[in-house]
Amino acid sequence: SLGVSNLDMSYGDLDVLKQVTLAIKPGTVTCIIGPSGSGKSTLLRCINRLVEPKGGDVRIDGESILAMKPEKLRRRVGMVFQHFNLFPDHTALENVMLALTKIKGLPKAEAERIAHARLTDVGLEARSHHRPSRLSGGQQQRVAIARALAMDPEVILFDEVTSALDPELVKGVLNLLADLGQRGMTMVVVTHEMGFARKVADQVVFMDEGRVVEVGTPSSIFDHPQSSRLKRFLAEVL
Ligand code: ATP
Ligand code: MG
Repeated sequence: SLGVSNLDMSYGDLDVLKQVTLAIKPGTVTCIIGPSGSGKSTLLRCINRLVEPKGGDVRIDGESILAMKPEKLRRRVGMVFQHFNLFPDHTALENVMLALTKIKGLPKAEAERIAHARLTDVGLEARSHHRPSRLSGGQQQRVAIARALAMDPEVILFDEVTSALDPELVKGVLNLLADLGQRGMTMVVVTHEMGFARKVADQVVFMDEGRVVEVGTPSSIFDHPQSSRLKRFLAEVL
């Protein structure tokens, strides 16, 4: 399980996260929604320790990430970004293999076997020897997802992974995420896709101005919002 407790984070004197507390059960999908600038990306970045929180804690199976070696954290928490961050000079297969050889220290043959399997999972087996420039945005995002899956993490964080995609490619990637959720992957998904959150999430978190304003099931968040802030947000986006 993943527990975030009383997390505070600021950039200079701008307080970006204020006492954020969340509980994420294994095998569940948590969608984080909220207006631009509300701190969604910063929260994911704290969970992955790309930025240092000012206060509070993040625990994975009870173990604080603040006390964890970076390599261990990289293995246990995967992250997929809006921009895929693939290495342009490497093929899809090599992009997936790299983390396995560099971070997990696996021998090449073993890394290759796993990379092939994960590319197959995301429907890209036939493209494994293509470089990113010869793949569509949706295919590049699948490579990035395969790369995260290959590490066999306990949780994967997704930050607006469909926002940079052409509209016709969005659905395929969302279907892949839904599929991973079905297969029991623990996922935290920052998304503007309310239809996806409603359909796939076990838990929806609404953030505003660095705070968690409401947490609940899709039906409680979308059909029975409590706070005026969430009601206003939904009126704008739905
Ligand atoms: P969006 O939906 O637009 O992606 P978000 O909810 O992900 O927004 P964050 O990126 O977490 O929001 O940003 C939260 C706040 O922190 C914003 O006010 C933003 O301007 C500020 N911020 C983000 N990154 C930095 C940074 N590197 N330096 C200074 N301020 C930052
Ligand atoms: Mg963001």
